[in-house]
Amino acid sequence: MIILVLNCGSSSLKYQVLDMKSENDYSLLAKGLVERIGGTMGILNHQVPDREKYSVEKPVPDHTAGISYVLEMLTDKKLGVLSSLKDIDAVGHRVAHGGEYFFRSTAIDDKAIANIEKCCELAPLHNPANLLGIRAVQSLMPEIPQVAVFDTSFHQTMPDYAYMYAIPYEYYQKYKIRRYGFHGTSHKFVAQKACDFVGMDINNSKIVTCHLGNGSSITAVKNGRSIDTSMGFTPMEGLVMGTRSGTLDAGVVTFLAEKENLTTSEINALLNKKSGLLGISQISSDMRDIESGAGSGNANAALAQEMLFYGIRKYIGSYAAAMGGLDMFVFTGGIGENSSVTREQACEGLEFLGVHFDKDINRATRGKDVLLSTSSSKVKVVAVTTNEELVIARDTMNIVKNK
Ligand code: AMP
Repeated sequence: MIILVLNCGSSSLKYQVLDMKSENDYSLLAKGLVERIGGTMGILNHQVPDREKYSVEKPVPDHTAGISYVLEMLTDKKLGVLSSLKDIDAVGHRVAHGGEYFFRSTAIDDKAIANIEKCCELAPLHNPANLLGIRAVQSLMPEIPQVAVFDTSFHQTMPDYAYMYAIPYEYYQKYKIRRYGFHGTSHKFVAQKACDFVGMDINNSKIVTCHLGNGSSITAVKNGRSIDTSMGFTPMEGLVMGTRSGTLDAGVVTFLAEKENLTTSEINALLNKKSGLLGISQISSDMRDIESGAGSGNANAALAQEMLFYGIRKYIGSYAAAMGGLDMFVFTGGIGENSSVTREQACEGLEFLGVHFDKDINRATRGKDVLLSTSSSKVKVVAVTTNEELVIARDTMNIVKNK
């Protein structure tokens, strides 16, 4: 089954085409990125394994035009990988927010679209863009089955005492203000992958998954279900991230707004785009720059990374307490898969939980699935690569097959 996976942002869209023979037997046919949609000049990057990258600039007025160019490239005689559009069996979309409507991935029909629309106010930057992608496919390929896979749905198993904020209950009723959590496809995928990797039964396990990238979140996965997660009503809560502040006292927001005379959108930009590693280090939001800055004596870069390491440790400890124990924790995402310094420092001092970390293996490994704990460690520590597109393709295949 050939699946087109789409991840539409407000001015960009990422795509992958996967040939899914089964859940575990698949191949990537092509992938790419269209950027600056709606600007005067768009950029299309198209990549086919073992072929040279193709890149072109042309105006891309909207998402329909962007997807239409992608479909042209996929079926182009020279650049393409498909003989015709009929080869595509289904389209899977990454959708940011499913609110309380979606506990799992779903086939896209009018009702699903209406509910995704209702979640737009919860994710005003992302859901409208996801809907543009869904509608563009409807207009370009009206017969094709489409599936939505949500960043939030894995976390819908959290108990109310974990997802509620202690503000007047009426705001939950009125606006659905609560913790939702994000990166759900990644947390679900890496929890299962790590279990398979070490031979653990996910249905009888207490796992903490650490997705550490530009955006970072940590999830407590008990018996395969998310019971708590660090991101909240928006992806701003939790760990120090590339440019997001992570958790802070809401009193800081009102204090800053008054002192600096900031509007709500200025505060929003400050906490989402100018904070985190970038805000503290004052050099970069990129962990590689932070590491080299800290290595060459930049005190602010060193502080930024220490804040991240400390935050990871605190979450691991608190989620071990929340689950009543810990069998394994998992690193993934650009930082989790590649930064041996982060992994080592995040494990520092966790011996009391039964963590014995193999520093040599850790330093020698990057970008691969690896067991990082020693054979005597009570708690297993692993790093595994995540693959959100594969989860979307799998869910799409299963939903379309079962319809
Ligand atoms: P992601 O959002 O998952 O793509 O992750 C991006 C983050 O991963 C950025 O902060 C990168 O600096 C970080 N990253 C990627 N490769 C490395 C590396 N080799 N060492 C440290 N951080 C890395």
